[in-house]
Amino acid sequence: MNNQQFSTVFDGLMRCLPHLSGQQGEALRTLLERNGSLVECLAIIEERGARLRQCPHCAATRIYKHGMSAGLQRYLCLACRKSFNALTGTPLAHLRLREKWLPYLQCMIDSQTVRASAAATGIHRNTSFRWRHRFLEDAKRQRELPLQGIVEADETYRLESQKGSRHLTRPARRRGGHASRRGITSEHDCILVARDRAGATVDFVTGRGPVTKKQLFACLPPVLAPDVLLVTDGAAAYPAFASAEGIMHEAINVSAGVRVRGAIHVQNVNRYHSLFKTWLTRFNGVASRYLPNYLGWLYGRDDNRISTPASFLRASLRINEKSLRDV
Ligand SMILES: [Zn+2]
Repeated sequence: MNNQQFSTVFDGLMRCLPHLSGQQGEALRTLLERNGSLVECLAIIEERGARLRQCPHCAATRIYKHGMSAGLQRYLCLACRKSFNALTGTPLAHLRLREKWLPYLQCMIDSQTVRASAAATGIHRNTSFRWRHRFLEDAKRQRELPLQGIVEADETYRLESQKGSRHLTRPARRRGGHASRRGITSEHDCILVARDRAGATVDFVTGRGPVTKKQLFACLPPVLAPDVLLVTDGAAAYPAFASAEGIMHEAINVSAGVRVRGAIHVQNVNRYHSLFKTWLTRFNGVASRYLPNYLGWLYGRDDNRISTPASFLRASLRINEKSLRDV
């Protein structure tokens, strides 16, 4: 039921209950909305349950339905005698308040801050932060692979941030955050992005400082179709990597002022970099260790891949895995 249908039904119901005060009417609306949201959330979780073929504890396949618990089907494994449900072993296993999951995911689709999402859904801001990263943990891995055709690859750099860490591994920076040296240094996180012309994109936070050939070997071969044309800027690591892997490669000499040679350019991937950096500013300082989650979040936003709370929850539960593979 969408919002408009709900309002129609609710208004009809309210006409039958003329003695309710405005406040009672609002309380009833909240109750019904929450219940509707909970029912929808549980139904999506059970889509995952229906696809379970083995025990999450011991991988045995003799599993049986074994009653209900907190609105979810429980299963029993005949091999290890442990019980489980559709969420066992997932990042969402111990999250409570399921009636608020879908409203919370709507806040994420709207790129709301931790605080705004907490206020909108009536949860604590610490819970809001924890939920954000739990929902992203598996959702971020789902990409259309392999990348095909012309694949642009390029890095972007961002001053590393230890926000939220109790123990800094370097002296604290003054507010505003500037590197102590110019250029790309070991104070910068390197984000490697590869994107094909259909928009399929993968990203890697490769570590501090410029990307190395070794890192390219670790990241790119598993995500590239064998016959791609890799297009990069002039960074030295790429030609060595491409020739060793037998990948066709074209480099654009950006530092010499050449930006485009026909179809040979890295402008799509560079646009994606700036999209990411611009979008990230709304979150007021993201710690380095969470960058992969935000990159995955952006990928879901890009091209409207994830545009409803239900599809976000399905991605978090890897329900659509058949068409999408892990990075
Ligand atoms: Zn088992």
